[in-house]
Amino acid sequence: SAKAAGSNQWAFFKQQMTERAAVRLRTEASLHDALKNNEFVLYFQPKFDLKTNKVVSCEALIRWQQDGRLISPMSFIPVAEETGIIVPIGRWVIEQSCKVLRDWQRKYNYVIPIAVNVASQQFADASLVPDIKQLALRYQIRPEQLEIEITETSLMNDIEQAIAKLEQLKSAGFRIAVDDFGTGYSSLSYLRHLPITTMKIDRCFVTDLPHDSAIASTILMLGQQLNLEIVAEGIENEEQLSWLNDHNCPIGQGFFFSQPLPLDEFETKYLAGQTAEIVTL
Ligand code: C2E
Ligand code: MG
Ligand code: MG
Ligand code: MG
Repeated sequence: SAKAAGSNQWAFFKQQMTERAAVRLRTEASLHDALKNNEFVLYFQPKFDLKTNKVVSCEALIRWQQDGRLISPMSFIPVAEETGIIVPIGRWVIEQSCKVLRDWQRKYNYVIPIAVNVASQQFADASLVPDIKQLALRYQIRPEQLEIEITETSLMNDIEQAIAKLEQLKSAGFRIAVDDFGTGYSSLSYLRHLPITTMKIDRCFVTDLPHDSAIASTILMLGQQLNLEIVAEGIENEEQLSWLNDHNCPIGQGFFFSQPLPLDEFETKYLAGQTAEIVTL
């Protein structure tokens, strides 16, 4: 009967929900363990000045080392966000990045800024700003060496709150980038009031270059008007790069230059004897 079928469906639905909740709990528990057991690792991807081909900064990207395998952030960051454990994971990322900055100062007497990704929930957390300030103090890093990458969506969740927080970070000297720009729902009127330093053109608009350049040109123009630094993400080939160069995009990042690298490899390539390391393409 229809009634029996309906109740069967309900039972099925309930069972699915329970399974999903169980998977989530298991993943949450293992993310806790991963943090405790030091199973996370940061990779670093360089960002290049497109005019000089010099490395001017980098982005820290998290991976999960599990039994010799590297797990992509795409497969655990969403769960970490759903369960809230993104807050301590994100704090670990910031602390680790501060340590790396301190070590670069000591080892190379040469430091390039590190950008860290901050998730929505982490951005909304009251401890974010005091944590960042405290960590910068503890590791004695200059605030302009740390850049916070936030997506448009995180900013638009609670715009007033976001502006207040960014104001605190920016006045303390930290750099702030809007990540994946163009894919969220920024209100252009608010964009003017956001105390940000950088906009990152999302990879999907770079992929379309040079054939479909409407969005990339618009973002570049917007950046120039608002006096913001623009970074193009996901540059994979020469054609994309030369379009960006021709249109005065100042900074770029992508597999064409380099994949994200383990710390030691990144240091060897881009920090050790950096004066001799000017990359020519
Ligand atoms: P994102 O912040 O937009 O980072 C850029 C992603 O694009 C990275 O993927 C990077 O490896 C990849 N990428 C860079 N250049 C290219 C390219 O030329 N072609 C292609 N196809 N991909 C390119 P990854 O490392 O897998 O990270 C994915 C996303 O996971 C990040 O996107 C970010 O949203 C999130 N994520 C990574 N690390 C963290 C973290 O520490 N905290 C938080 N909250 N999120 C993170
Ligand atoms: Mg990012
Ligand atoms: Mg991005
Ligand atoms: Mg992204």
